[in-house]
Amino acid sequence: MEQITVVGAGVMGKGIAYASAISGFKVFLNDISEEALKNAKHDIETLLSGSAEKGFITSDQHQSAVDHLSYTTNLNEAAKDADLVIEAVLEKMDIKVKVFQQLDEICKKETILATNTSTMSPTEIAAQTSRPDQVVAMHFFNPVHKMKLIEVIKGLETSDATVDYVRKITEKLNKEMVEVNEFPGFVTSRMNCLIGNEAMNMLMEGVASAEDIDKAMKLGLNHPMGPLELADLVGLDTRLRNMEYLHATLGEKYRPSPLLVKYVKAGRYGRKSGSGFYDYS
Ligand code: NAD
Repeated sequence: MEQITVVGAGVMGKGIAYASAISGFKVFLNDISEEALKNAKHDIETLLSGSAEKGFITSDQHQSAVDHLSYTTNLNEAAKDADLVIEAVLEKMDIKVKVFQQLDEICKKETILATNTSTMSPTEIAAQTSRPDQVVAMHFFNPVHKMKLIEVIKGLETSDATVDYVRKITEKLNKEMVEVNEFPGFVTSRMNCLIGNEAMNMLMEGVASAEDIDKAMKLGLNHPMGPLELADLVGLDTRLRNMEYLHATLGEKYRPSPLLVKYVKAGRYGRKSGSGFYDYS
């Protein structure tokens, strides 16, 4: 059985672990936080049961996923036998680099190392390892079990063999892939962050209510979700880090909305904290 190890058990890590487990991979989910792992286990098991009940997965898939999913705070145990590692820790370059340096030491020499970064440079991460040709970005979307796309970003040194490997994994995960040459924000985040930021600025300026901004985008422009409800789903702390990175790399157009900054200061992180642009209590 091929093994996928997911590092970081937050919003994205648990989704990637779920998608991998129902696709026949042996999966290790790692986090530095016991609590994050406990929550992830609960959420994954709830999703597995719900999906099996509704017929989205078979009972064999359900059982196999439960049998082949392990949760651990020990990175060595999680990564030593991995064929592919997908990192989904906080969107902070220094933390990601540290994780990749550890993985480079722990993993087999043929292991492919992927980052789920929304905006950052896989080239910069890869340069801190001894295998830059085997480092790539695999950008999954939230919620992972529903979203079809994986945006694959080639760093400067990423080999064609690594992209081919990731393409095969994408097929096994029953997802679609687009291949993107590295540039800050890739295709999706560069566009999506700008739309979200504009919506936040409009809310701040009193142009319309959050509900009406989202309704306008859904019914008028056929977006499946409004930009403010989407930002709440992503996590406003994560979105602010994305904006800060894009502002630093792409310039003024990406300055984070002051309203976003204020909400994050107040601890309003969106769905995961119970309030953001909407109240989830
Ligand atoms: P999150 O805050 O929900 O989870 C991050 C997790 O990483 C936490 O559980 C934290 O304990 C853990 N962590 C921190 N340092 C660690 C380390 N050294 N080793 C192991 N675990 C560590 O964040 P998220 O929203 O899941 O985002 C993770 C990554 O995915 C970010 O790079 C983000 O930009 C990207 N991303 C997020 C979304 C989204 O919608 N939230 C979508 C696509 C990509």
